[in-house]
Amino acid sequence: MNLSFEENSWLQESEARFRALVTATSDVIYRMSPDWSIMHQLEGGNFLTDTGQPITDWMQKYIHPLDQLLVTKAINYAIGTKGMFQLEHRVLQADGTIGWTASRAIPVLNNDKEIVEWFGTATDITARKRMEEELKLAKDTAEQQQRLYETITSNTPDLIYVFALDYTFAYANPALLTMWGKTWDEAIGKNLLANGYEPWHAEMHEREIDHIIATREVVRGEVAFPHATLGRRVYDYILSPVIDADGNVICVAGTTRDISDIKENEQRKNDFINMVSHELKTPLTSATSYVQVSQKRVAESGDMVTAGMLERAVQQHAKMTRMINGFLNVSRLESGKMQIDSHRFNLADLIHDIAEEITMTVTGHEVIFDPCAETWLYADEEKIGQVFNNLISNAVKYSPAGSPIKVACSKSNAFVTISIADKGMGIDAAELPMIFDRYYRVNVAEVKHIAGFGIGLYLCAEIIKRHQGKIWAESKVGEGSTFYFSLPLATDL
Ligand code: ADP
Repeated sequence: MNLSFEENSWLQESEARFRALVTATSDVIYRMSPDWSIMHQLEGGNFLTDTGQPITDWMQKYIHPLDQLLVTKAINYAIGTKGMFQLEHRVLQADGTIGWTASRAIPVLNNDKEIVEWFGTATDITARKRMEEELKLAKDTAEQQQRLYETITSNTPDLIYVFALDYTFAYANPALLTMWGKTWDEAIGKNLLANGYEPWHAEMHEREIDHIIATREVVRGEVAFPHATLGRRVYDYILSPVIDADGNVICVAGTTRDISDIKENEQRKNDFINMVSHELKTPLTSATSYVQVSQKRVAESGDMVTAGMLERAVQQHAKMTRMINGFLNVSRLESGKMQIDSHRFNLADLIHDIAEEITMTVTGHEVIFDPCAETWLYADEEKIGQVFNNLISNAVKYSPAGSPIKVACSKSNAFVTISIADKGMGIDAAELPMIFDRYYRVNVAEVKHIAGFGIGLYLCAEIIKRHQGKIWAESKVGEGSTFYFSLPLATDL
């Protein structure tokens, strides 16, 4: 390259300036020939490898292969316009890894406005780029998740919503907005009253939100209210706390499902069971009385074999009557017609009566009644008697003949707890929470061979619940079960 004297002194001056800059900055500094074919010098800081002498393969040495075209284009543009070269691109760092740089170079012009050389700096922006990449990834993931949730919440008939802690709606899915007949802007940020809920209904949910904030518990409920076009509907709802990393409730998320059709079907089924039970009861009662009269006459005639068979018929009738009464009780319960007629009575007397009856009727098992101290209750004696009978007959049903069944009671504080323990087949721990559900029977082969409809424990649980008591069971498969129920003692002694 033939340089004029002027240009040579320029370059020397420029090198001096370059030196000064190197000591003054932590950035990469470089000098390039006018057409960028030679890199005169590069001081790479700790970022890029220094060039000791001019090199021509700088592109391969420093620029990431995928960005080389981009760099070339930017160079050509800068040369063409004699303007600044400016680009953020990937580089091959001194440690062999890929980094990012923001590179700028300005042309040094001579008096004829020709480029003599390029003078550039490059800043290490790897950390920033990585952060930007991470941020973009996080943003993409968040957007992806949002799209996912939006698809789920937009395409369900269930109502999905979020309450802010001031009871205003922070989110409502399209199904809910449609039910309200409102747009997002009209409904969001407004409370229940403003969204058309009746005061009792708004108040109910606000108290539930208070409860969730205070306890972080999930609340589940059922509510009936009129729908704008569909008439009266029944809804099942679940409200759950949304908890932040510090354990604080930040909002309350809810889902509501229209269960009107399920309810209606249930009602139809109950009505049907009720009707069938009533219809069966009348002929059964008269058949029983015919059998009882025949039994008497046969006994008088001395035909003991037939008398024995008729006695069995009476027992089978009694069994059928008990089943039918069970169904009638369920239907009474469902329609809210189960009455609790409480009075004061001594539990010890009730247990005494039950023990006498059981001794007469249960023959295959040894039912042991522990002595029970005088215990006064204010309760529906007949229904508590039913609970005893159900639990004892279950103990009989689900344990082998000859095995013992123990009935005991103990008083503590303001409660009495009764236990009925058997040494039968037991119940798997996973099944225990369900056995008090209506029509639930444990799904094992042994149970299938034992007659039952899964309503006895449901009735027991409902009766005990209506007495502000508790009922539960402990069990081990193959070892036996103990059913407990506790009732509050009469307080007016
Ligand atoms: P069922 O008419 O089927 O006996 P219940 O409501 O009285 O109905 O009981 C529900 C289910 O709980 C039964 O089907 C049985 O699987 C289980 N169960 C109840 N009592 C016992 C017991 N003492 N031992 C083992 N399993 C029992």
